[in-house]
Amino acid sequence: MGDIKIDPHMGLPAGFHFSQSNLQDFVDCPRRFYLRHILNQQWPAPTTEPQREFEQAMQNGERFHRVVERHQLGIPLSLMSALSPLDGWLTRYEQHLATLGPFDQVWAEIAFSSLIGNHTLVAKFDLLALKGNTIIAIDWKTGKLPQRPTLQRRLQTLVYLYVLHQEASRYLGKPLDTYTLTYASVATGEIQTFDYSPSEGYTGRLTTLLNNIQHSAFQKTDDQRHCRFCAYRSLCERGTTPTALPDEYDIDGDWAIPRDTENEVEF
Ligand code: SF4
Repeated sequence: MGDIKIDPHMGLPAGFHFSQSNLQDFVDCPRRFYLRHILNQQWPAPTTEPQREFEQAMQNGERFHRVVERHQLGIPLSLMSALSPLDGWLTRYEQHLATLGPFDQVWAEIAFSSLIGNHTLVAKFDLLALKGNTIIAIDWKTGKLPQRPTLQRRLQTLVYLYVLHQEASRYLGKPLDTYTLTYASVATGEIQTFDYSPSEGYTGRLTTLLNNIQHSAFQKTDDQRHCRFCAYRSLCERGTTPTALPDEYDIDGDWAIPRDTENEVEF
């Protein structure tokens, strides 16, 4: 099978919104961004092996996020049946809330959108929590957290802190002092927190990234570690059998966690 031809006249679909997920696709592999978001190519290769284990992990992650959303709407956890592994996850979820709280107000599963240039950037937060003049976006992870430098480089950290800083104060109708993103693993109990800092140059980095997408030739990545997790392996002639295990994949964020992240591209 020959390589696919990139059509330079095909742009982003009408109404396309950028998000941490599709931006991460571009950073990991421009070709994946083209196939998934411009061509809307369906290519149902399994992401990891064994596939059954991966699907079970996906279902457990979705159930956990549903239970937590209902709990934040006021339904007691004791009224929601929770079989393993959710029972352990929910215990750690309560421990995290006790550590991070108490909060003045919370919002579950809330999305903000923000303009950057002519583009819309969307961030969907698992939980937003107000504590005095600090707004905390909490992202629940049902797997082990990557190391802090890796999390710091992830597009999720960049996008969430940018959108939170742009929109939270306006949403609340009051000034805020601190904008925080907290990753909390309910599998391991780990917590990693990042505060918004103007020195990080969020606007410039995101603007550069969006410009790169607009002028990209959508080449395949040279870093074939990303292909191990990718559904387009066959199409790209980068293998037909997955070589990644479910615990190497971030079920909640839909992004892979390569074991060796030393060479990860930074924005
Ligand atoms: S298989 Fe590899 S080269 Fe092809 S889209 Fe996926 S990550 Fe990119």
